[in-house]
Amino acid sequence: MTALRERPLAGHVQLTGRSAIGGRFIEGPTLPAHAFHSLNPGTGENIEPTFHPATDEQVDSACLAAWDAFGDFSGTAPSRRARLLETIATEVRDIGELLVSTVMAETGLGEERIVAERDRTMDTLRQLADAVRDGRWMEPIIDRGEPNRRPPKADIRRMLQPMGPAAVFGASNFPLAYSVAGGDTASALAVGCPVIFKGHPSHPATSELVARAVMAAVEGCGLPAGTFSYLVAGGPREQAVGSLLVRNPCVRAVGFTGSISGGVALSKLAADRLDPIPVYAEMGSVNPVVMLPGAIEKHSEAATQQLAASITESCGQQCTRPGMIFLHASYAADKFLADLANRMEAAGPGTMLSVRLRRNLVGRIERAEAARGVEMIASWDPKLRAERPGPVRAYPVLMRTPAAVFREHIALREEFFGPVAVAVVCASTTDMLRALAMVQGSLTGTIWAEPGDEADTRRVHTMMEQRVGRLIYNGVPTGVRVAPAMVHGGPYPATNRPESSAQGPTAIRRWCRPVCFQETPDHLLPPALQAGNPLKIERLVNGKASREPTPTK
Ligand code: NAP
Repeated sequence: MTALRERPLAGHVQLTGRSAIGGRFIEGPTLPAHAFHSLNPGTGENIEPTFHPATDEQVDSACLAAWDAFGDFSGTAPSRRARLLETIATEVRDIGELLVSTVMAETGLGEERIVAERDRTMDTLRQLADAVRDGRWMEPIIDRGEPNRRPPKADIRRMLQPMGPAAVFGASNFPLAYSVAGGDTASALAVGCPVIFKGHPSHPATSELVARAVMAAVEGCGLPAGTFSYLVAGGPREQAVGSLLVRNPCVRAVGFTGSISGGVALSKLAADRLDPIPVYAEMGSVNPVVMLPGAIEKHSEAATQQLAASITESCGQQCTRPGMIFLHASYAADKFLADLANRMEAAGPGTMLSVRLRRNLVGRIERAEAARGVEMIASWDPKLRAERPGPVRAYPVLMRTPAAVFREHIALREEFFGPVAVAVVCASTTDMLRALAMVQGSLTGTIWAEPGDEADTRRVHTMMEQRVGRLIYNGVPTGVRVAPAMVHGGPYPATNRPESSAQGPTAIRRWCRPVCFQETPDHLLPPALQAGNPLKIERLVNGKASREPTPTK
């Protein structure tokens, strides 16, 4: 058993292993048969303390607390919610080294990566705070009335309003950036939606530390306690907490990051409600890369170096990891792939986040290599694939297949969530385009091209643009920049909502719906639409951007 170093946090608090509802950790009896531990995948040992999944009643209480908080929280001034986000960033930072060591123990990820992810999470919170203050996210539009016209034209004003309490699910592979205080929680709080966060069973200690930070910020900013709740999930009650949450009538929208099966299951549950609610699911992605001949000739060394690092970084457990490489058959392509295989093998084994992910990965590799025509050019000795106690390891794998075999076998076209890539060797550009057309919707697509590749570049670009959310030239897709122009989304199954992005300030749109106010008395309008423009934000008035007062009559 690895004991997490227990150290007073924020003055005097220890990990409880419990859910927190309406600002307080739940006390009282637990169901011992449902208790669970997280695993240290670097050692294979369980980690103390014991965690107790939320009961049905606790899920219900958290949802009711969020519902009660919604009226007040959604009505707070944007500047107050911006302060909340900034305070959460500060509280997370102040957990300090304890947070880093806890994440390392629960995930096997390296210190440098965790510190970078923490800083990026804080940056996201701060960027969203700026966006909330700026006010453009509300998309206020005013079409002034013309009472003297015959027939008279009504004064109408619309803006985005928060949808209500949001249930948020994080993934195991980004224990900070896509977890308790990650982009989904931050963007929902930004617009005034209370959040009920369902903890991921693979990092419950990390989740509790961050949940404490969020609750401290909510309290410190004087906001309703039900603004944020955190539910422990895992052990034998795995999936039960999440399912109950999505079905709860107080929940008005869901944010999910994780597997395709999880996202699809939760979307179905939400659609089967008497009052279906939106689910924004960010799921699996294969992230195709096309290496055109001119680029192979000119950049072979840089490209193999960058691709090998990007495929094997964090043991390949990144949603933007390049998973397929398309190239024209040639001697240069053979050499390129041999070099890439060597570099991937040189990276050596990595630690996977969980036994379940490793089991899934091994199963997928075995299904893919069973296809006739698939050659393992960097490979994982079958003996190393057997499950055994101890560290949860995975070795890099590079498979090579002709485009025709790739098109035939779905096992080659699915996401391998680990340090694995499939090289697809194409007889011609037409062959390549036919294979690319079968690539599933992805977060990213990458093209390596030089001026001599111009004719192919345009055709590949057009095909790729239809399949991905972000197109990259001569680089790698990992290391997503958090910025207003970022799109972290894409066609199914990268997401189930290709019109949205889970990153950057536009992510906040997912938690809103437009409301129109017609001939509404000024004092009953939200401040963003009032005649005097008290928030001093930019509004679209009769088709023109303006910060001027706009009387209703
Ligand atoms: P996961 O196993 O699906 O877990 C994610 C969450 O979903 C957990 O809270 C899990 O809780 C819950 N869940 C899964 N299936 C469920 C079901 N049938 N009913 C109710 N709840 C369910 O995913 P993961 O292994 O942590 O994450 C890895 C995956 O996430 C990869 O495929 C990766 O590509 C993807 N990912 C995507 C993005 C993106 O932006 N597109 C970003 C990061 C990761 P329980 O375990 O309690 O059921």
